[in-house]
Amino acid sequence: RCFCKLRGEVDDCSCKVETLDSLNNNKIYPRLKSLLARNYFRYFKVNLQKPCPFWSDDSRCALKDCHVNVCQEDEVPIKTKKENNEHEHEKSKYSKDSNMQEQDKTLEESCAEERELSALDTTISKEKMAEFETWKEHDESLPMFCEIDDEDSNGMEYVDLLLNPERYTGYKGASPHKVWRSIYEENCFKPEQNVKYGPEIVGDLESTMCLEKRVFYRLISGLHTSINIHLCDQYLFPDKSGFGPGTWDHNLDEFQRRFDPELTKGLGPQRLKNLYFTYLIELRAITKAIPYLERETFYTGDIKEDVEVMEGVSDFLSVAGSFEHHFDESQLFKGNTDEMKQLKTEFVQHFRNISRIMDCVGCDKCKLWGKLQTLGMGTALKILFSGDSMNPGSTVNTKSKNFQLTRTEIVALFNAFGRLSSSIHALETFRSLAR
Ligand code: FAD
Repeated sequence: RCFCKLRGEVDDCSCKVETLDSLNNNKIYPRLKSLLARNYFRYFKVNLQKPCPFWSDDSRCALKDCHVNVCQEDEVPIKTKKENNEHEHEKSKYSKDSNMQEQDKTLEESCAEERELSALDTTISKEKMAEFETWKEHDESLPMFCEIDDEDSNGMEYVDLLLNPERYTGYKGASPHKVWRSIYEENCFKPEQNVKYGPEIVGDLESTMCLEKRVFYRLISGLHTSINIHLCDQYLFPDKSGFGPGTWDHNLDEFQRRFDPELTKGLGPQRLKNLYFTYLIELRAITKAIPYLERETFYTGDIKEDVEVMEGVSDFLSVAGSFEHHFDESQLFKGNTDEMKQLKTEFVQHFRNISRIMDCVGCDKCKLWGKLQTLGMGTALKILFSGDSMNPGSTVNTKSKNFQLTRTEIVALFNAFGRLSSSIHALETFRSLAR
């Protein structure tokens, strides 16, 4: 049952899955793991307070505030149930049958668990906060190539990524489905021919969508795969007695439900292959930005730490840079036609929309990682297509003075790629569990 052992070329790339497994698991993943634990990469500046620009918050209970009445402690019908005999009028207030009350109790329990799992750990020491001020002064002295929406807004905060790992949060049901549906149905490109889709595109993408549209869809699908692998990889199994805190472990059943060809009508392997595609695109962007990243100081104010990080990055880049010619972005947006210009504009607009949809994610931890990973992917696309590179045949000049990445973009780019790398690494775990 080693269905997750994929073989052959990654679609739209000249690279085999097997080659990537080996490169990632032996060389990239261990280097990134230690690099991302460094101060420069572990604190991410983000605004999690921005309201959803597309619809009113409909998350069940995972947000800071619980929007379902039964999640409010003093309104939980179970209380009424207990006091049933003494307070008859209370009973009529909650005119629900006992079945409903049981459901409410279950919902309240699961809400409590969901709230706990999705809550962010915002512990950051006073010393670290003072250090951030030095970082800020340094960052603000740099010219900005591109304005990141959140950078100057009030709700910007540093989050310690190591304290808030991407893992199972219990965020499921209507809220994430609405987010994913909105991403795929409204902001991904649709097949040109009349092919059944939605939210997932089924069938042969090559004959129904042009390269640019396929790239866009595969990038998003690969991100989706990665997020879902992480929740299977670090899953919370409830305590058998019902009283304990539960156990974190790999959940093979959950993984199979999402990726096994038989259980997914054949779609699982394609979802997994899209992960490799997304990995390759981000790897390509990082290697393209090597001249720029090699000049980056990774400033934190601690000279020893900064030097060590520069050495670690340089080591990582030498491995990443030795792996070339796996994706050719110059094949995208070829030809200076109006149609192509329109396609480029739509590509950028759709991507921007998706990054804004992340503010609609109804679970703080998922939102944190969703925002980080879309920013990282956006940074990768910026590297691949920035400046005149949106014109045919040109390449990004990362040595140019105009090219600039902010600290937040660099942190997002490395961590986003780190997530994809960790997902590919996790596949190895599931392969051995399935044996
Ligand atoms: P979903 O994953 O919600 O998928 C919905 C539909 O999309 C599926 O029915 C299928 O048709 C299609 N689909 C599924 N996978 C793919 C794919 N790879 N490519 C194309 N189409 C696909 N949960 C956590 O526990 N921890 C997290 O950190 C977390 N982060 C999240 C971040 C974001 C931005 C979002 C939107 C959700 C996040 N979730 C997280 C929730 C998680 O992704 C699932 O939505 C949830 O577990 C419910 O899964 P599901 O089986 O109903 O299908």
